[in-house]
Amino acid sequence: MTTEIPAIAPPALTCGAGDCTGTVVVHWQRRLLPDEIAAQEAIEQDRRSTILTEADPQLPAPEFPPMDFSDSTVIVHACAQHALSIDAAAVVHQATCAAPPACDCKPEPAPQPDPLTDPPAMPAGW
Ligand SMILES: [Zn+2]
Ligand SMILES: [Zn+2]
Repeated sequence: MTTEIPAIAPPALTCGAGDCTGTVVVHWQRRLLPDEIAAQEAIEQDRRSTILTEADPQLPAPEFPPMDFSDSTVIVHACAQHALSIDAAAVVHQATCAAPPACDCKPEPAPQPDPLTDPPAMPAGW
């Protein structure tokens, strides 16, 4: 007797441009909108409450750092028709960016390479 193992489908991705049904081919990141930050804070508060509820009372109470989602991003998907350029997709966009279909924000500058991690000289052919 064999048991059918249901296939796990990847999450359905849709182009972020209105009701576009094009196949998603690219993505980039943007910052969170205020309601998205509130949703993340609610999830984190829920998680912290669970930890506090389940904590061993004989140990010091768990402590948590302040919530900060200013560095968080969400992924924006787009089809080929509504995609940004590869350079624009490489940087983080503002929360209110209208892309797709078109970016109307001033994206954050690309991270600079760490000057302390220059790669060592490699032998020829590597
Ligand atoms: Zn599209
Ligand atoms: Zn943008």
